[in-house]
Amino acid sequence: MPQKSKKPRCQHMKTKGIECGAPVMAGGTFCFFHDPEQMVQRTAAQRAGGLANRRRSNQSVSDLPLETPGDMLQLLSETINAVRRHGMSAKSANAIALLVTVWLRVREPDQIERRIRRLESILESSTLKADEEIDVRRFESCEPR
Ligand SMILES: [Zn+2]
Repeated sequence: MPQKSKKPRCQHMKTKGIECGAPVMAGGTFCFFHDPEQMVQRTAAQRAGGLANRRRSNQSVSDLPLETPGDMLQLLSETINAVRRHGMSAKSANAIALLVTVWLRVREPDQIERRIRRLESILESSTLKADEEIDVRRFESCEPR
């Protein structure tokens, strides 16, 4: 009968008083997650990762104005150049491209409305001019000879 070797198990007690029971680290009495030494290293690694992420997000990228199509063109130009310089991930560039598309779509009704208003004002002023011309003619016809 093969003897079942008893592998040492993690001594860590969970909150409900149950032992972790995971296999221990070589020569230790705790598993990878509960080994105090590993925990120190893990915390340091997490802190370093967090700092790196913060450093990445703090990179001095100033906010661009995002008001006009010209601003969007500027954003796209900078994005394209950043990708070409390998200064931006394709993922970020894709996100920007998508956001520019959304920006354009959101703006579209506003632009159409503006064009309609412009056309209306042109039409109105030309109608006014036509009316004035008629008035002038009427005035001329009524003029005593
Ligand atoms: Zn454990």
